[in-house]
Amino acid sequence: MLQLQFLGAAQEVTGSCYLLRAGGKTVLVECGLIQGAFEDEARNRKPFPFDAAALDAVVLSHSHLDHSGRLPLLAKAGYSGPIYTQHASADLCRILLKDSGYLNEKEVEWENRKRQRKRQPLLEPLYTLAEAEAVMDQFVPLDYDVETEILPGVQIRFRDAGHILGSSVVEMWLSDNGVTRTLVFSGDLGHRGAPILKDPALIKAADLVLMESTYGDRDHRSWDETWSELEEVLLNARHDKGIVMIPAFAVGRTQELLYAFNLNYDKWQLERWSVFLDSPMAIEATEAYVHHRNLYNRETQALQQKNGNPFMLPNLHLSRTAEDSMGINRIRSGAIVIAGSGMCTGGRIKHHFKHNIWRENCHVLIVGFQARGTLGRQLVDGAEEISLWGETVAVAAKVHTIGGFSAHADRDGLLAWYGHFDGHPPIALVHGEAAAIAPLAEQIRALGAHKVFTPAPGDTLDLVHMKPA
Ligand SMILES: [Zn+2]
Ligand SMILES: [Zn+2]
Repeated sequence: MLQLQFLGAAQEVTGSCYLLRAGGKTVLVECGLIQGAFEDEARNRKPFPFDAAALDAVVLSHSHLDHSGRLPLLAKAGYSGPIYTQHASADLCRILLKDSGYLNEKEVEWENRKRQRKRQPLLEPLYTLAEAEAVMDQFVPLDYDVETEILPGVQIRFRDAGHILGSSVVEMWLSDNGVTRTLVFSGDLGHRGAPILKDPALIKAADLVLMESTYGDRDHRSWDETWSELEEVLLNARHDKGIVMIPAFAVGRTQELLYAFNLNYDKWQLERWSVFLDSPMAIEATEAYVHHRNLYNRETQALQQKNGNPFMLPNLHLSRTAEDSMGINRIRSGAIVIAGSGMCTGGRIKHHFKHNIWRENCHVLIVGFQARGTLGRQLVDGAEEISLWGETVAVAAKVHTIGGFSAHADRDGLLAWYGHFDGHPPIALVHGEAAAIAPLAEQIRALGAHKVFTPAPGDTLDLVHMKPA
């Protein structure tokens, strides 16, 4: 038996989870958190639809929580075997999973205080910091481009996906009864031409491609336009003599910003600013990027040779402690503050908003995706006031959205990556909203593919005959 079952990120973006059955072995690919609205996130607490203790191996494409965030739950449910991922990906998982465990505990602590007062039953965190740390012991880091037999009849090879540090396209060779099938899982595919990392690896041979579709229905603005927009906002903000607040994800976007600042330091007159990286997690993630500098693309390697650390600026201040962060709140002019969380749902950015967003000479620079229901989305949608810890605060600062930053391939990028395979192999589209998957499926058929699957949650593909089981 060679089968692939779609358990998550089928007709949606988050919660990636796929179950492979090859001969007598079962392999889980990804074990991601469902992220978004409250009702959706409640699904994270549901038991797994398989016996976790009976799994033989877990393979992980990258560290983002929508791919890795339920791994501590998998261990809690009895899985004690290996979790294969690329080296840098394992390092980032340690940072992201620990933060996730910590936030789970904080959230429940806060909720339970209210519940206690109402004499309601108390909640358990989804998993704790200690549980997140414990699952790291199961990680088996691998290098890119090396074929590894993880089980009899199951070989894997990670290839650089160029999405975030350590992200992989996973090639898998599955054998049973003399039949071998090559499955290529895109993971999250990087955006060509992005700074720092290499472009996604191109692969020729597959019997089935499993491809993400996040931006299957649109193309991104060019990188040149994005850099010009960023430059213009900074030059204007300089005239206003206020401060610039940038909510940014700790992994990926923060490093891209710092890299761009380094590269354009003179051109963008950055010597006239003080730049603050106000996030212990982003500082740690940046250190991981530096540690794995062998994974940089050619331009970044060159910059590294010329200027040293490509994320360091002469006027960059790393703000680790709460006192450091509060010190920034007293600055009224000339500061660029990069802080989390990326969608403004928590973290230090909210404190900076409280001190500055009501001042009209300040600027908010949105450089990442803002999901529905988040504070960041309200700002993008033009909210005139926001609520911070129950207090209504007017939004007088100018809010700029720079949409060209993306860690994902756009429609053109996805089509080109698929187009590189020999003979238009069968393909299953995952990790996308139905509205992005349907037009992408059409375009892939137009390229000449005969089998384009758009699986629903729970669907199974028979990999021997390449048809729904
Ligand atoms: Zn990702
Ligand atoms: Zn993802």
